[in-house]
Amino acid sequence: MAQVSLRNVCKLFPGNVKAVDNVNLGIENKEFMVLVGPSGCGKSTTLRMVAGLEEISSGDVFIGNKRVNDVPAKDRDIAMVFQNYALYPHMTVIENMSFGLKLRHIPKQEIVQRVNEAAEILGIKRLFKRKPRELSGGERQRVAVGRAIVRKPMVFLFDEPLSNLDAKMRVQMRTELHKLHIRLQTTIIYVTHDQVEAMTMGDRIAVMKDGIIQQVADPISIYDTPRNKFVAGFIGSPPMNFMNGRIIKKEGKLYFDEGKIIVKLVEDMHKKMMPYVGKDIIFGIRSEDIYDKLFVSEAPPENIVRVNCEVYEPMGSEVYLYLNTGKHTFIARVGAHDKPKVNADMDVVFDMSKVHFFDKNTEDTIV
Ligand code: ATP
Repeated sequence: MAQVSLRNVCKLFPGNVKAVDNVNLGIENKEFMVLVGPSGCGKSTTLRMVAGLEEISSGDVFIGNKRVNDVPAKDRDIAMVFQNYALYPHMTVIENMSFGLKLRHIPKQEIVQRVNEAAEILGIKRLFKRKPRELSGGERQRVAVGRAIVRKPMVFLFDEPLSNLDAKMRVQMRTELHKLHIRLQTTIIYVTHDQVEAMTMGDRIAVMKDGIIQQVADPISIYDTPRNKFVAGFIGSPPMNFMNGRIIKKEGKLYFDEGKIIVKLVEDMHKKMMPYVGKDIIFGIRSEDIYDKLFVSEAPPENIVRVNCEVYEPMGSEVYLYLNTGKHTFIARVGAHDKPKVNADMDVVFDMSKVHFFDKNTEDTIV
């Protein structure tokens, strides 16, 4: 097994399209690294450069301790699982799984053993004689993963492997891949645009935008301490609420003035926020850090805001409230028992110890 390292990696496509811009990323041995970002951010191109399917414009890629820029894909000791599975339609499941090993002249007995072992892990032995068209999406996905496992590569590369599955199957396969990683103890680089997959599967997550890595950290650090507004808004569902406003100072205390609502900053944030007094700023608060005042026994009066409840969305275990300050709309996630009146005013409480502030110009996190 191996670590993977990308150093100053760039990809320039014809027409001066900079798909990947100076990416530096180290993936540790046995680590599950997720590359996540919106469509077109360069994650697949990054993965394809590691795989050897795309030429590297500049920079270096190392697998283990070896620089692989000039090593052909077939000699890189990696296995890749694609979004469309890329199974051979005319071959049965067992033939699909064995094919790569046959090409590598692995002895027949070993092929049988490896294919059986992988099929056992994935629960697909009963499908051995079927062709891909006779399989469900989830089964095809398992066969594609099985075909990768039998190779026993140093590194697995996954490119949106679950995006063709229905929602239920996606959740199931997500857990299976997670378990598989624990069982196989291999290095995995996994590309997805789905932040839930990134949060639930990754040991660490690299968030990309416009070819640039914005932040690399474990899921909870990314969620709790995003480096900028983009990461804050991309990771988390519902997304973080943002409001434009100003920092103001009254009697030595700092407040965020949104125009319609005003809330008081906690003392801990004063030092960092002092230089922003009188300036425009972006305020961020996650939906779970907003409470219906009716259910808060002792809310500090400066953290209570009056809003209009526009929509009430029951999710089963919780409720999403779409609230309006008169200037901004935002979402609060409250308990299932909470049933405020729609189209009526209500008081909500902001947990000001959990809020974020972003620089209006750079959109970098201040606190
Ligand atoms: P998606 O989630 O939609 O697959 P992605 O994050 O994987 O997106 P890439 O496929 O890596 O993004 O593409 C990054 C950028 O490079 C995009 O702007 C895309 O249009 C461009 N691009 C990708 N392949 C080529 C190519 N062969 N020629 C020119 N431009 C390309």
